[in-house]
Amino acid sequence: MSAVGAESGVGTRQQILDEIRSADKFVLVTHEHPDGDALGSLVAMHRVLCALDKDSVMFMAADEFPLPHEYRFFRFDGLQSHPPEDLDERTIVFLDCGNIDRNPIDAFKGDDAHILNIDHHHDNTRFGTVNHVVEDASCTAEIVWDLMDPLGVSPTIEIAEALYVGLVTDTGKFMYENTGPRAHEMAAELIAAGIDVHGIYRRLYEGMPFAKLELLGLALSRLEIVDDGALTFAYLGRDDFRTAGAEESHSEGIIDHLRSVDGTKVAGLARELFDGDGARKKVSLRSTDGEVDVSAIARAGGGGGHRRAAGFTTELSHAELVAFLREQIATQL
Ligand code: 5GP
Ligand code: MN
Repeated sequence: MSAVGAESGVGTRQQILDEIRSADKFVLVTHEHPDGDALGSLVAMHRVLCALDKDSVMFMAADEFPLPHEYRFFRFDGLQSHPPEDLDERTIVFLDCGNIDRNPIDAFKGDDAHILNIDHHHDNTRFGTVNHVVEDASCTAEIVWDLMDPLGVSPTIEIAEALYVGLVTDTGKFMYENTGPRAHEMAAELIAAGIDVHGIYRRLYEGMPFAKLELLGLALSRLEIVDDGALTFAYLGRDDFRTAGAEESHSEGIIDHLRSVDGTKVAGLARELFDGDGARKKVSLRSTDGEVDVSAIARAGGGGGHRRAAGFTTELSHAELVAFLREQIATQL
């Protein structure tokens, strides 16, 4: 098991550096429905390995495409949508995955798989051959950045942009409590490397499809403030997405509005998943002031995450889910 707390990642960093230096062939994977940190870490790590003349391929399943509109500017040279045929010769690098099942492709989970697990989730299950889990890193991109100097790779514009996307999205634009001095040191170095900060902001947060706003409107119109704000909750059915003309990924960001409601301890958003018969829902949870550890609730529901941002999927009905969340929150307050 790896060290925890402020010292997390101290010993495993050297192990990861040794692994990267000594291996030649890699395949990089991240979690399903990748977010900014997942994609930024994937692309940056790939570019770093290419700069070291390694044979690196990125893997993402075909059904992840099209990506949410805000991430479509990423270039994915070397991306494969099938596990490589020479997989058994490759070191598998998991980025930003708290547990191995967050990448649902079985090919990457063989008993003989040689796995580097690079992540910042405190509840990471340490499923790798080497586990470099840095709990106090703001984002996985920060951990990738931290490897570059000893590897002698300096940030090209493409690497810097990818890392910055991970940094900005996982720190809530440098505003979440995970934003430490290292996050700003990293930002300073990436800006010095020449990235267009405002351009990245525009790509990530502006140019929003109107359907996304319509979906937000539907969610806000039926906000449930439960137990005086112990839970501020919204539920989106598949018919809501149809009404708004929205894609599945358009629900991203709605939770931030829920958590900003006065008096909220925990914000929760449940949405029916498009695949299957609608019984499966994705639940996103946020803790406002840290009094409730939402990762514990998510684990109880079969998922996981960070103390203030976590999630799980469930087949509970709307009413059962609200009851489950109320009960879970009550045990912590
Ligand atoms: P979001 O609500 O934005 O989908 O996810 C917030 C955070 O919760 C993610 O960064 C991830 O750490 C965690 N998370 C979300 N869904 C799941 C899940 O199904 N399983 C696990 N283990 N973690 C999740
Ligand atoms: Mn992350």
